[in-house]
Amino acid sequence: MVHNFNAGPSILPKEVFQQAAEAVLNYNNSGLSILEIGHRTATFQAVMDEVRALVRELMLLDDQHEVLFLHGGASTQFMQVPMNLLDEKETAAYADTGVWGIKAIKEAKLFGKVEVVCSGKESNYTIIPKDFAVPNDAAYFHITTNNTIYGSQWQKIPNTSIPLVGDMSSDIFSRVIDFNSFDLIYAGAQKNMGPAGVNLVVVNKNILGKIKRAIPTIMDYRNHIKEGSMMNTPPVFAVYVCMLTLRWLKALGGVAAVEKLNQAKAACLYKEIDENPLFTGTVIKEDRSNMNVCFVMNDPSLEETFLSFTKERNIVGIKGHRLVGGFRASLYNALPLSSVDVLVNTMKEFALTHA
Ligand code: PMP
Repeated sequence: MVHNFNAGPSILPKEVFQQAAEAVLNYNNSGLSILEIGHRTATFQAVMDEVRALVRELMLLDDQHEVLFLHGGASTQFMQVPMNLLDEKETAAYADTGVWGIKAIKEAKLFGKVEVVCSGKESNYTIIPKDFAVPNDAAYFHITTNNTIYGSQWQKIPNTSIPLVGDMSSDIFSRVIDFNSFDLIYAGAQKNMGPAGVNLVVVNKNILGKIKRAIPTIMDYRNHIKEGSMMNTPPVFAVYVCMLTLRWLKALGGVAAVEKLNQAKAACLYKEIDENPLFTGTVIKEDRSNMNVCFVMNDPSLEETFLSFTKERNIVGIKGHRLVGGFRASLYNALPLSSVDVLVNTMKEFALTHA
């Protein structure tokens, strides 16, 4: 068995792969592949209806929030959010907690003014900023709830009087939060939901239509809402696999149940990092991510040897992002605790001969 700690695209439940594979060959015994049916058929409409209903149910969304599955990666949302919410002369507030936040800031500047209200830069993004004020006349406040590259996570979601926007690409559906406290949530599917190529967007419809800019048809969230997320051909296979994953999550007991598993996995790995004399966690304890666990070796010259050691034990995807170095183990929803046990035991075993 391979222990897949990839940061994204990443592990999905085995049964989801099985069902998706069957659907490619023969969807529901129709004699047709899921890839060759029209998106306007009753068959695909049922998929779109179910996946949107599952999101609503799993996130406990109120009636003001709309659920969309849109083309593109989360990077498309870096642009689409300000295009829909930020007028040229207005200011949007952004938190800079690392690479993805910085990319979002860059795109927002194309549409209006940006005030970076807090930044973890001086601490090399090993913290989530705590003391900062968000101007109450800003168009919205944008945070990256989980920082995939640096391994930090907002444990407490900030309270704001202005619309709150969250990039949840790497921790969507992983923990219980008040999703309704966000006015716009977006997430690329390729971590906790499905294949790359589709974004989940949850938006409070009351924040739309407030700006003067003409928005291209395909970029205007209101058009997608009006058309039930079927304005044009959706990425049908990606949407279908998201539906399968969310069915799996619901059967598991939903977000609260998976959060418990995620906490257990993260606690197990962080404990080893803290106790093992060879390793150090890179993020301060209170801001550590339960999704992406980043750590380095106290003696960097051992890193290559350790990496080979893990490969022999079928552990894949733990090389850290080039900006941080060291290691990153991503513990997304579908990763079993048994894989974390294997990694922890490998770290212990390595310490016996190298500490
Ligand atoms: N935001 C976050 C938090 C991410 O982790 C990523 C990708 N890893 C992105 C945005 C960009 O996503 P995409 O590659 O789908 O555009």
